[in-house]
Amino acid sequence: MRIGSVVHGIGAEIEDPDGWVWALTQALDGTRTAPEIADTVAVAHPGLAAADVLGAMADLAEAGFLEDASAPMADGFSGRGRERYGRGVALLRWMDRSPRIDSWELQLRLAHARVLLVGLGGAGGLAAQGLVASGVGHLHCVDPDVVELSNLNRQVIYRERDIGRPKIDAALESLRALNSDVEVTGTRTEIGAVEDLEALLRRGSEDGRHDLLVLSADRPSGIRHWANRACLSTGTPWVEGGYRGPCVSVGVYAPGRGACFECHRDQDADSRDLRLAPGQDPESVSPRMDWGPVNAATAILSAGLLVHAALNALTGVPAVEPGFRYGMNLMLPGEPETNRYPRRPACPACGGSAS
Ligand SMILES: [Zn+2]
Repeated sequence: MRIGSVVHGIGAEIEDPDGWVWALTQALDGTRTAPEIADTVAVAHPGLAAADVLGAMADLAEAGFLEDASAPMADGFSGRGRERYGRGVALLRWMDRSPRIDSWELQLRLAHARVLLVGLGGAGGLAAQGLVASGVGHLHCVDPDVVELSNLNRQVIYRERDIGRPKIDAALESLRALNSDVEVTGTRTEIGAVEDLEALLRRGSEDGRHDLLVLSADRPSGIRHWANRACLSTGTPWVEGGYRGPCVSVGVYAPGRGACFECHRDQDADSRDLRLAPGQDPESVSPRMDWGPVNAATAILSAGLLVHAALNALTGVPAVEPGFRYGMNLMLPGEPETNRYPRRPACPACGGSAS
């Protein structure tokens, strides 16, 4: 018997030579108590012990395939909210392989989440739309720029009438119109140091924290390094995405769990034999081009990966350990790129923090 569909990573096969597990799953339709389920299965399989049926139910629950239909529904969602987010909750629940009484717990986590998003370009604007549409509780956006005509080949959050406006103003207007459940705020500023990000991560909430940083800016050149340090010092998980020509990727990091950005960057540089001089930044051998080659495809793919990585970090679904990068090279479609390195004990950024 196959359960969970045929999606690799979710689906499972159960040997069921006598057919009673199938009968059990048919009885698990939310209308019966556990003893009634055992009785129902026993009608077709009279020799079967009730303990076996109850044991199989416990196994299915442990594997994340069951919900308690009589459990009280999570507070916090009106009928409108349940209609709005129902499809996303169904997907999260499908990817979720942990025992859970109520699927809406995951949406509730999103509704309570505070996210800081830096960079409202192609990937960032779309990622902001994705997070707001998904129902995160609060999104604070940061960007220094104004909308230019050359942005509009991929920055689809903006309109022609926005040309010349600060991106923050145009984006906030668009995001608030998309989902009034979400508190969307913004700051028009350029990040210039670790301390700028630390201050942003600590501000805005009663307990002075954000649950996640989404970094979708690649300027100034030190911004990923600063984000890594700021997230380590504030204990904030973060995701960063972008594109380099046809290569689109996202990095997923959480302090104390796996490699940090610098652990990762340094080992990646070692593996590529870049012949760096002592202290030379790996970015310097493959610098970003000022004219920024990017189109709607690379920006949208990058944003999709960012939104997924962000929802994953906030909900814990699917159960993937942070500390890695993944993505794709459009020159070699079908060959996914995943890089995962161990944490470096000597890492200058995270080497001294608890693991
Ligand atoms: Zn590190």
